[in-house]
Amino acid sequence: MTLLFVLVTETQNIAYYTMNIYKSVTHYNNHKKGFSSERCILAAIIILLFLTSPFMSRYVSARPGDEVRDEDRFASLREQMVQQQIKARGINDPATIEAMRNVPRHRFVPTARQRQAYNDGPMPIGHGQTISQPYIVAYMTQLINPEPGMKVLEIGTGSGYQAAVLAEITDEVYTIEIIEELGKWGEGNLRDAGYDNVRVKLADGYYGWEEHAPFDAIVVTAAADHIPPPLVEQLKDGGSMIIPVGSAFRTQNLMLVEKQGDETVTRSLIPVRFVPFTRAEDQ
Ligand code: SAH
Repeated sequence: MTLLFVLVTETQNIAYYTMNIYKSVTHYNNHKKGFSSERCILAAIIILLFLTSPFMSRYVSARPGDEVRDEDRFASLREQMVQQQIKARGINDPATIEAMRNVPRHRFVPTARQRQAYNDGPMPIGHGQTISQPYIVAYMTQLINPEPGMKVLEIGTGSGYQAAVLAEITDEVYTIEIIEELGKWGEGNLRDAGYDNVRVKLADGYYGWEEHAPFDAIVVTAAADHIPPPLVEQLKDGGSMIIPVGSAFRTQNLMLVEKQGDETVTRSLIPVRFVPFTRAEDQ
């Protein structure tokens, strides 16, 4: 309503100024017949007036304080997300809930989609990839029993959001992305949001990150057709890996792999839909 009122008032102001200018120009013209550029001058004045009017500066350029208001709005959307999508659906690990509450998800989505960042679903992030639904991120995080002091590997950096959630709780996060542009974007998002305990590598995550292995936990965010043996090898004894398994067009299942000595116990949890785990040779 307020916006409508201001719009009407500003339009009236502009119309008033324009009329006055028009009157003076036509008055001038009456005295000097044949003045041909009258219309051009009038048009230029109208355009100039419009561009420099308070209306334009008020709504086109951001003013100090706008960002603070946006951050407040996002914080309240985030709290709603935590209550309705995370807690109400049974996520009960306090560290996971707190991480979901703290990570500014809107800073991990394309700018044009910020307003939908807290919606209950996945969202495209370009290159045919998606940032997972908030509930799935929380579900996968809770399953690895995240704690301070842990070192975690993620496969599929994408936006960097899942890595940020892990970085809120654990000490060190290593994340690998196969698409160069996404890796760089995700790394930038993480840096801009202040997550300096995350390291990003551009590579085929199938082979893990030997140099920093073994890991307390591994989170894979793309659906593979089998569990990559190098990842199982890079798990600590007692560590766990969460990975969607299945093809892009058939049902995929979220699997929990637990390493106990020489044995690995694999359980199928829920049906899911993830983007495919691609291999370097597919690129
Ligand atoms: N965790 C991301 C989800 C991104 S979608 C987020 O929170 O936004 C899955 C990502 O896995 C995509 O960016 C895709 O490019 C990446 N990916 C697929 N196969 C991969 C592989 N073999 N190695 C590393 N990343 C891979």
